[in-house]
Amino acid sequence: MTAIDELLRRNVDSPRPGTPTIITPVPSLHLTIVTCMDARIKVFDVFGLKHGEAHILRNAGGVVTDDIIRSLSISQRKLRTREVIVMQHTQCGLATFTEDEFKDELENDTGLRPTWSLETFRDVEASVRTSVARVRHTPFILHTDQVRGFVYDVCNGSLTEVDAGRAESRTRSA
Ligand code: ZN
Repeated sequence: MTAIDELLRRNVDSPRPGTPTIITPVPSLHLTIVTCMDARIKVFDVFGLKHGEAHILRNAGGVVTDDIIRSLSISQRKLRTREVIVMQHTQCGLATFTEDEFKDELENDTGLRPTWSLETFRDVEASVRTSVARVRHTPFILHTDQVRGFVYDVCNGSLTEVDAGRAESRTRSA
């Protein structure tokens, strides 16, 4: 049995856990959280989040890429979010290899070298600062005065705010 088969079985066995109970797609806290896809991070538990309160965007690293900017622009302009949390974490897979190593591996296997960046890092706090800066400086997002970065410790569950400098005050009406 594959993992997908297992999940389909759970879906049938459970009493409709996916049934929507919230009518609006607008998150009630008007907040978006960007974080890593790492399976150890229980985003809802870390922040005591409730269903319907926030948009959650996940990718490898919790790095603010063009695709995260795409989602954030939709989140703010069409779904009325105003604040952004960027949360990366200790022991991230992206800190275990280098950009060139991985691109070499892909090129050796496929003959193609990707044009996109892997966004690997050694210093997680520096990576958070870079991602926070990308959110604050993109012209496509309406609200940049409440963008804050954090490192989540996957060993003890602690959350540490990263000093990302002074927030640029740029909040425009949606
Ligand atoms: Zn990670």
